Amino acid sequence: MNPLYARMGTTIFEAMSARARASGAINLGQGFADGTGPAPVLEAAARALLERSNQYPPMAGLPELRQAVADHYARHQGLNLAPDEVIVTSGATEALAASLLALIEPGDEVLCFQPLYDAYVPLILRAGGVPRFVRLEPPHWRVTRDALDAAVTTKTRLLLLNNPLNPAASMASAEELALLADFCVAHDLTAICDEVWEHVTFDGARHLPLIGFPGMRERTVKIGSAGKIFALTGWKVGWMCAAPELARGLGKAHQFLTFTTPPNLQWAVAEGLVTQDGWVAETAAGFQSSRDRLAAGLHELGFATLPSAATYFLSIDLAASGIGLGDVAFCDLLLEEAGVAAIPVSAFYAEDPVARVVRLCFAKQDATLDTALERIAAARAALAR
Ligand code: PMP
Repeated sequence: MNPLYARMGTTIFEAMSARARASGAINLGQGFADGTGPAPVLEAAARALLERSNQYPPMAGLPELRQAVADHYARHQGLNLAPDEVIVTSGATEALAASLLALIEPGDEVLCFQPLYDAYVPLILRAGGVPRFVRLEPPHWRVTRDALDAAVTTKTRLLLLNNPLNPAASMASAEELALLADFCVAHDLTAICDEVWEHVTFDGARHLPLIGFPGMRERTVKIGSAGKIFALTGWKVGWMCAAPELARGLGKAHQFLTFTTPPNLQWAVAEGLVTQDGWVAETAAGFQSSRDRLAAGLHELGFATLPSAATYFLSIDLAASGIGLGDVAFCDLLLEEAGVAAIPVSAFYAEDPVARVVRLCFAKQDATLDTALERIAAARAALAR
């Protein structure tokens, strides 16, 4: 076996979910919503399954979906993508894998930001790349020119950006994005932008895609996921958008990863992108209320939380809460004493971890959040150590 996999453990999300299942804990660890998604999209998928083709769709995706993605980004983000600049993938995960496989040559360095989504480093390494880390820190997780300059070398070819950022729940500002664009142009880097959380944003904040910044249109791969837009994480329908020359290379990597994605889900997502803007906005507003409910409950119990501008996540700042435990020990205690599963943010660092932040998923029914808060309150004495 490749030593990378021989050495690797199960992901923290799977491990925490398994422990939550085994102990009957409320799972605020893994990031999935407990709603059912928009009914018209589910109905469209069911109809397509019964009434339309179930054979291989075109390799780059159904034309209806490629067009719907291009139109969606024109409407929401002012982008001018052509449908043939959109390649449909089996989730954002496949888009990430295809992009990294297509764009890395052995020895190429890839700049990435810690905390990082768990798939990034194994995918970079398996593609023969070398990850170089820029470390971000709470409470604001900001990118600086100095940190970028310290990480870049003559071998750097790619910049991998997750914005909005999971688990930090932060969004890059226009100034930071301008800085990143400038930096990519100066060092001739291609940017891979994982923007799966682009519609789960709060307090009126608007997502700004890096591909829209000066100099980036031809050197950016923009990745999205219907799983996040419609809160249907199990569907694994995603896409990667890039200028034609880049898109051709990405398509070649995609054709030997999955080749296609189930056509009924593609039709349904296309319909959803055309008809469900209202649902998407209402759902984000609902998540914002859930965030506020969990934050208020935690504050009442004496916990300090970090700002959450986007995603399904709110983090407890242990140090600011007067808790001396590290994040892993706190998550163990939270699971054992309170019966609530959470994720230690140190799991998102490959080196030099921030170990005083714990991530909770608030994309749950009010009753689930309230019960979690009651359990945390009951276990408060143990947790205050
Ligand atoms: N990137 C990030 C930052 C994510 O949070 C997730 C899902 N949690 C993914 C990629 C994976 O998306 P998909 O399920 O569409 O593969």
